[in-house]
Amino acid sequence: MGLKDLINKGKCLIGLHQGEWRVASPTSCTFTRVCERCGVEQSKVEHHWPEWGFGADASCQQVRTCYRCGLQEERIYHTWAEAVYKTKATCEQEQVCGRCREARPAPVRHVMDRWRYVGADSCTQVQQCSRCQTDGVKNRVEHSWGDWQHSNAHNGPLRVCLRCGEMQVQAQPGAAQAPLTTAPPAGKSRKEMFEALKPKMQMLAEQQAAMERVLGAVNDRLVKHEEAPDEAEDPPAPPIVTDDEVADLIARAEAAEGSGRSLRERDARLEGHWRCTPPALSSGGYSLSTDINLVLDAEGRFARWSHSIGPAGETRSDPEYGSWSSPDGRLVLSYDDGKGSVRTCEVHPRELLFSQGGDQAYWQRVG
Ligand SMILES: [Zn+2]
Ligand SMILES: [Zn+2]
Ligand SMILES: [Zn+2]
Ligand SMILES: [Zn+2]
Ligand SMILES: [Zn+2]
Repeated sequence: MGLKDLINKGKCLIGLHQGEWRVASPTSCTFTRVCERCGVEQSKVEHHWPEWGFGADASCQQVRTCYRCGLQEERIYHTWAEAVYKTKATCEQEQVCGRCREARPAPVRHVMDRWRYVGADSCTQVQQCSRCQTDGVKNRVEHSWGDWQHSNAHNGPLRVCLRCGEMQVQAQPGAAQAPLTTAPPAGKSRKEMFEALKPKMQMLAEQQAAMERVLGAVNDRLVKHEEAPDEAEDPPAPPIVTDDEVADLIARAEAAEGSGRSLRERDARLEGHWRCTPPALSSGGYSLSTDINLVLDAEGRFARWSHSIGPAGETRSDPEYGSWSSPDGRLVLSYDDGKGSVRTCEVHPRELLFSQGGDQAYWQRVG
């Protein structure tokens, strides 16, 4: 037996027979063949189907008929719409067929946009679905801090959570720098140390970004000189930076320094409670009026919060705290969370005017 015969025998052994498929009649879909090599007889059914078509109008039943043998097949083919909630109070969904209106269940979809305290004196919250009140899997801790108060024991501001009693102390500006640069104080984790350094690091980063802008402006100017030979004789022009930008830069540098002359420089006329009332926002017959409150105290600390009255009632934001100073006619606010703002201001006995304050340019003394 030659190699070719061996191969052919192998093909028949694994079912790869040879020969032409024949059909008994033009209206039959059963095909048969007898293998030319081994004589095995095989048969198969192969219909010739058209596309599926719908039967009755509002029904989802589809039918097709074989062109050759006339065999008919049926199937149900729905056109499912997007999943929608079954009722307003539950998160169960369903899908409805656009043709026959049949419904089928769809996956439950919660809206986890709420938090629920797990206990009356605990500050741990669990996520909650605002539609059906089912708990989610995420947790967080949300303290309800009281006002900052001076603590003699800690020699600095201290606040207490009104729910769980946790205490938070805050080192005085200036005094805070000393322990941070030496060994970590006992009881403070590396993470806490890092958190405490964050505001300072952010200040420094902002300062660096501002420096880069100034250097960029100088560089642009120099490049322009090289490209324009007519001006080559001119002395190097100063960078195009506004006075305000320079003032801002200096103020930031001073604020980031944490000590220094101007941080202690405070205009006593600024002390007190100021309020700004930007124009109310209104739409669709509703309006939201907000007032912003700023209290600057004699120790250089400030609190800022807003208070709104709208269709949903009255809301008051949690106060934000920080340190203030007023070097050279500018009000510098350094928030405890690292934010900062520097604005040129004009102080009057009952009014405060910020030159670039937009909606928040005009403040009135309320206390
Ligand atoms: Zn065969
Ligand atoms: Zn057929
Ligand atoms: Zn249907
Ligand atoms: Zn839900
Ligand atoms: Zn708490």
